[in-house]
Amino acid sequence: MSDEKQLRKEIIKTAVTMSQRGLSPGRSGNVSARYDTGMLITPTGMAYDQLKPSDIVFVDSDGGVMGGQKKPSSEWHFHLAAYAARPDRNALVHTHSMHATVLACAHEPIPAFHYMVAVAGGSDIPCVPYATFGTAELAAHVANGLKDRDACLMANHGQIALGENLAQALELAFEVETLAGQYFKVLLLGAAHILPDAEMELMIEKFKAYGQRANL
Ligand SMILES: [Zn+2]
Repeated sequence: MSDEKQLRKEIIKTAVTMSQRGLSPGRSGNVSARYDTGMLITPTGMAYDQLKPSDIVFVDSDGGVMGGQKKPSSEWHFHLAAYAARPDRNALVHTHSMHATVLACAHEPIPAFHYMVAVAGGSDIPCVPYATFGTAELAAHVANGLKDRDACLMANHGQIALGENLAQALELAFEVETLAGQYFKVLLLGAAHILPDAEMELMIEKFKAYGQRANL
């Protein structure tokens, strides 16, 4: 099997798993992986469990889509912007997972209330400003939010997670949702106790050393 076909299959598997794990209510969310001079991305408006490898759409780095393909996810703009901003990352999972979306709708970034926040590569998980989906404006916000983080919330929308590969991106999206659920509950109790910057620096280094899926 070609590398491309293998990657198309992995994108479908990632999208199906994302849905099965409850991260993407309805048909929300989309998945992509860097490929050749652009990326492969899930098509718009199709149930993930019905996707065939040939339904995954190749979008070139300038947004070009060759004829004969399905229509790419309407959110392809910010996927391309994220790959341009982060040459070191090769996969992206975007979801409207419940708690990440709740915090995003309240314009609440996730601060260092728990050391696991460092799994996204910094001392917080930022929330980028709202812009209409499918616009260059939203793509610019996302590129800015992900330039030194592997995940961000998107105001009034959802969350994005990056990875070196699809498995990492999906795992991080799941972690962001878990942290968002925990932080939401902490906010209900009152003010969170934020870890000091020095401690978060230590955690960030640990995650770099052990890999983001280490069981710390
Ligand atoms: Zn979305």
